Amino acid sequence: MKKLPKKAICKWNKATLEKALPILLQQADQAQYVCRKCGRIAADPKNLCKAMHRSDFDES
Ligand SMILES: [Zn+2]
Repeated sequence: MKKLPKKAICKWNKATLEKALPILLQQADQAQYVCRKCGRIAADPKNLCKAMHRSDFDES
């Protein structure tokens, strides 16, 4: 499987997005992290600027 760029998705430029979006989609069903700054989701917290695990929201 191809690897995503290590940078946060939030900081990808247009060229990076075009290359990485298909890989990101492949990983979307495993995404467990959300960026609390911009709302993006990812399987790897390294791809988010302010990653939070989904279990962090299970407070109710
Ligand atoms: Zn972000």
